Amino acid sequence: AKSQGANRYLFFNDSMNKQAVKRLQLENLIRHGLKEDHFVVYYQPKMDILSGQLVGMEALVRFITPKGGIISPANFIPVAEETGQIIEIGEVVLRKACLAVKSWIDQGLFQGRVAVNLSSRQFSLPFLCELIDDTLQQTELPSYHLELEITEGTVMQSPPQAIEVMKKLRARGIHLAMDDFGTGYSSLAYLKQFPLNTLKIDKAFIDDMNTASGRNMVDTIMTIAHNLSLSVVAEGVELETQLEILRKLRCDVIQGYYYSKPLSEDGFKQFLLEQKHK
Ligand code: C2E
Ligand code: CA
Ligand code: CA
Ligand code: CA
Repeated sequence: AKSQGANRYLFFNDSMNKQAVKRLQLENLIRHGLKEDHFVVYYQPKMDILSGQLVGMEALVRFITPKGGIISPANFIPVAEETGQIIEIGEVVLRKACLAVKSWIDQGLFQGRVAVNLSSRQFSLPFLCELIDDTLQQTELPSYHLELEITEGTVMQSPPQAIEVMKKLRARGIHLAMDDFGTGYSSLAYLKQFPLNTLKIDKAFIDDMNTASGRNMVDTIMTIAHNLSLSVVAEGVELETQLEILRKLRCDVIQGYYYSKPLSEDGFKQFLLEQKHK
């Protein structure tokens, strides 16, 4: 048994080792961050493409390190998904987003919906609806101010079950958006069955609109979405030229650096005040 153990150790090479150590460090950092309330929420505006008016915002998590730096979700969400910590992070984000939006509504600064991302781990929680009900009740945010973004990959893990969960959420007046559309493998047959309100076209497609085939692709997605009565959000819009193409293609809503990067809670309140005085 001992020699077998030694053998196995041979396969556990140096780079795997370093990766495992890094992952463990991050897991500990996340645990500490959850205890110390180091997860904060940033907000990125979503603008109506025709009126240029604010229609909503997406809540995006940020991790403030003990030294005051900011870690972007791309760097910790994959580990948090693996360890299950994403469930607790998701609860924090949902609660903070509901509280912030409730206060903006009460101050007369906002009337739309806040979109919160749901990880696949969260989406498959048996008590997801109860968790959301409790959070809405505690924060006194009416359900029609909430939208949930669910990725194509999440709903395609088990489409029939996903449809059931989505129906329960919709029954509460919550809106549902399919996130990162086009990056997964959802068939058109399913797209039609999912009780969605919105389809978000992934940034990769927006970046690709500088070619004719890229524009055709976005045009096709837009046509499919509109045929299913879904509103379309284009993600990652940075350029005026992209905005013009999207307007011609009858896209509904724009989200991207062209209008604003994700803003801190204070920063977003300033943004709301500026909108009000436009
Ligand atoms: P996502 O849901 O697709 O969010 C959009 C991402 O695109 C955000 O990155 C946003 O900052 C970025 N973005 C928006 N407009 C532009 C643009 O014009 N140019 C560029 N280069 N980027 C733009 P972020 O905040 O780093 O989040 C990355 C991903 O992490 C999100 O992608 C989402 O999958 C995940 N994520 C963020 N917050 C949460 C959360 O609270 N829960 C869960 N489960 N996942 C989250
Ligand atoms: Ca999203
Ligand atoms: Ca997205
Ligand atoms: Ca994305």
